[in-house]
Amino acid sequence: MGLMQSVTVLGSTGSIGVSTLDVLARHPERYCVYALTANRNLDTLFEQIEVFSPRYAVLADTTLVKSFADRLASAGLSTEVLGGEDGLCAVAREADVTMAAIVGAAGLLPTMAAVEAGKKVLLANKEALVMAGPLFMDAVERHGAILLPIDSEHNAIFQCLPPQNQLGSGQGSPFANGVRRILLTGSGGPFRTTALADLAGVTPDQACAHPNWSMGRKISVDSATMMNKGLELIEACWLFHTAPSNIDIIVHPQSVIHSMVEYIDGSVLAQLGNPDMRTPIAHALAWPERIVSGVGTLDIISQARLDFEAPDEHRFPCLRLAREAAVRGGTAPAVLNAANEIAVEAFLDGRLAFVDIATVIEQVMLTLEIVEPQSLADVQQADSKSRVLAVAIIAEKALI
Ligand code: NAD
Ligand code: MG
Repeated sequence: MGLMQSVTVLGSTGSIGVSTLDVLARHPERYCVYALTANRNLDTLFEQIEVFSPRYAVLADTTLVKSFADRLASAGLSTEVLGGEDGLCAVAREADVTMAAIVGAAGLLPTMAAVEAGKKVLLANKEALVMAGPLFMDAVERHGAILLPIDSEHNAIFQCLPPQNQLGSGQGSPFANGVRRILLTGSGGPFRTTALADLAGVTPDQACAHPNWSMGRKISVDSATMMNKGLELIEACWLFHTAPSNIDIIVHPQSVIHSMVEYIDGSVLAQLGNPDMRTPIAHALAWPERIVSGVGTLDIISQARLDFEAPDEHRFPCLRLAREAAVRGGTAPAVLNAANEIAVEAFLDGRLAFVDIATVIEQVMLTLEIVEPQSLADVQQADSKSRVLAVAIIAEKALI
C-alpha cells in the first residue's frame, strides 16, 4: 500500500465512529482523517476535531453550521464546516475510504454517494443496505466500489468465505464456490431468558443493557427484540448473494464466535474473537492486510464453554417479520426497517411498550403495498409511507 489513505467517518460521534477513530489513531502513518460528521453531539465532534484535524466537519443540521464554524475558528482550528445531506454526500464521495456509521435510514444517501464514487466503503450502517438492497448492490458493481462489512457477523462471514470471494466486489456468489450454508450467530440479547410475561414491562435502560456489546441505543433495542438479527439476515442475503433459506440464525449467548460458513465438504469455518468492534473495523480498514486494533488476546480457556440454541420466534416475533420481508423482497425490507425505526424511537421515548414494537411493524407490513423499487426515490417513498403509518398506529395505541 505505502500511500497515505484519507478516511471520512460518517457518524464519528457514535459508538462505531469512536471505535473507528481509536483504530485510526494507532496508525497515523497509514491514515489521515478527511472528514468527521455528527448529528447532535457537537461537543464530542469538537474534541475529535482537536485531535484529528480533519479537512471537513459536517453537521446534519444546517442551522448549526455557522455557530460551530465560529467556535472552531475562535479555537484556532482550520477545519471547514459543511451542513446537511449535501455536505455528508460530498465528504463521502471525496475520501479514499468512507466508514458508513450513521444509524438508520439517514445514512442511505451518504453511503450511496461513496458507493457511486467507486470508493472503498466500510459498511456499518446496515439499514442502508436493508432498505435499498438491489439498487445498492447494483451500484457497487457498476461503480467498482469495494464494499467491506463492519457488522461483526458479516465481517466474520467475509473472513470465512472462499478465497475467490474475498477479492472485493464482482466475484459472484460464494454458493457457486463450495459454500453450503451460512450460520449467522447472535447473542439473543438481554431478554433471552426473561419470563415472557415480564417482557411487556421492560424499560429502555433494561433493553439497552446488552450482555456482551456496548452500542448505540437504537441497535441495542434491535438486539433486544432480535430485529437486529433480522436486519442482519437481509444484509447477509445481499452481501453474500444468497436467499434467506441458505442462512440459519443460531443463538450463541457468549458472542465469541461471530458467525460461521459451512462448505459442501462438511467443513465449518468460524471467526472468533473478543466482542469488540475494533476488530472488524481494523480488518476492513487494512484489508487485505492486517493491522493492530487495540483488541486484546482472546482468553479461550477462561471462556471455557460456548453454547448454541435455536432462536425462539415466539419470544422474538421481529425475527419472523424480518424473514418474511427478506423472502418477499421489493420494498418490504424498507417498509420493515422504517416501521422499526419509528417503533424503537417511540419505545425509547416511553410512548410504546417493548412488545408492541413487533405489533406496530406487523400492522404496517400487512397494510402497505409492496412494489419493486426502480430507484432510490421509490425506496424513500416506501420508507416515508411506512413512517407515517407507524406514527399513526402508535398514536392510536396511546389512546386505548
Ligand atoms: P450511535 O447511535 O452510537 O451513533 C450514530 C451516529 O450517527 C452518531 O454519530 C450520530 O451523530 C449520527 N447520526 C444519527 N442520526 C443522524 C442523522 N439523522 N443524520 C446524520 N447523522 C446522524 O450508533 P452506532 O451504535 O454507532 O451504530 C451506527 C451504525 O452501525 C448502525 O447502523 C448500527 O446498526 C451499526 N452497527 C453498530 C454496531 C455497534 O457495535 N455499535 C455493530 C454493528 C453495526
Ligand atoms: Mg451485528
